[in-house]
Amino acid sequence: MKLLRAPKLLTGRPDEVLLDAEVLVDGELIKGVGVRGSQDADGAELVELEGCTLMPGMVDAHVHLGFDRNVDPLTKKSTETDSHLLLRMAENARKLLSAGVTTARDLGGRDFLEVELRDAIEAGLAVGPHLVVATRPITNTGGHCWYMGGEADDAESIRRVARENLRAGADCLKVMATGGTMTPVGPPTWHAQFGPGQIRVAVEEAAMRGKLVAAHAHGTAGIKNATEAGVRTIEHCSFAVEGAPTPFARELDMDVVASIAERGVYVCPTLNSAAWHLDERYGPGTFDNLVDRLAKMRAAGVKLIAGTDCGFAIRGVENRMDAYVRGLELFAAAGWDNASVIEAATTLAAQAIGLGEVTGSLDAGKRADLIAVRGDPLAHLADLHNLELVMVSGRCVTQSQVDTAGSSVWLP
Ligand SMILES: [Zn+2]
Repeated sequence: MKLLRAPKLLTGRPDEVLLDAEVLVDGELIKGVGVRGSQDADGAELVELEGCTLMPGMVDAHVHLGFDRNVDPLTKKSTETDSHLLLRMAENARKLLSAGVTTARDLGGRDFLEVELRDAIEAGLAVGPHLVVATRPITNTGGHCWYMGGEADDAESIRRVARENLRAGADCLKVMATGGTMTPVGPPTWHAQFGPGQIRVAVEEAAMRGKLVAAHAHGTAGIKNATEAGVRTIEHCSFAVEGAPTPFARELDMDVVASIAERGVYVCPTLNSAAWHLDERYGPGTFDNLVDRLAKMRAAGVKLIAGTDCGFAIRGVENRMDAYVRGLELFAAAGWDNASVIEAATTLAAQAIGLGEVTGSLDAGKRADLIAVRGDPLAHLADLHNLELVMVSGRCVTQSQVDTAGSSVWLP
């Protein structure tokens, strides 16, 4: 057993703060949480975290471990071997963890390598967050991210790809409800790739095995289709309209926003370090438009969660694996108070990906996924950069002295 003590503790739920607190960890699980002296900790190893805040490990609801700025998704398929890519993914997972992310949902890659990596991490062969993996996104033939191998055009082929993914070990399914920006010859962002009935096939296949569906959706029509189909999360949720020069809207469709809120669908707006440079890439006003849309969705009662889409650059701007906190700072820029940002990064994100009972908050019985940061992120969100300790399932995995290449290049 380990007893972690710190002057401040956040449970992950807003307004739940303990002063002079301790967490008792027994094996992989949290045994108890309370104020100093409250835990029956005879024989436990004591870890004093002076000047620190203890809080749940953070959740990145949208990553692509199989990509970084040195992987061209369209051409590397034929050249980078799976074994080389798997090593790259392991290093990307370590980087993600080094930012305090103890659980991540991978929403698309090739050859089911995410399943291998997930299992290797659980077995202790690699260092990384717990992974929830979608494997091949379901998309149209030649559609958004077709090169990941999940092409399907009608209900029967959607069912087939869904079942193959689940057979291979997928924890969730990903449906490309619209076009996207990473597929040059694919459909535009505002184009709806599937109708609600087709997306519902994937939702049913997932539900049969107790699993959830994430829908990539930029365009308003695709967002509406995914919402009606009963997906758990909508990714990006950009409200792009036909003919728009960028994947971003100028105006939200408030009827669609209201139905997202009413059905309790979570939205992952994929806020990341690269999004701070939107104006440079898409023109002045794009960043303000994003911030405005986020604030309006939140005011309408939509549950927004943290997720970075890391792996994929935004028009050439690197979206770093270890820059998770920069994405959180964007929520703050959109008006969230720090407690709500932390909720979006912990309890809410864990609920959204189906792990609300397992992780995302500091409670007895939950997985001992936690971090300690120097300072107080409730007062200064940037203190989330100052990691003192990262624990995954009760194992300390802080690796402050490990420094590998920024991003390795594949030389065939
Ligand atoms: Zn993505």
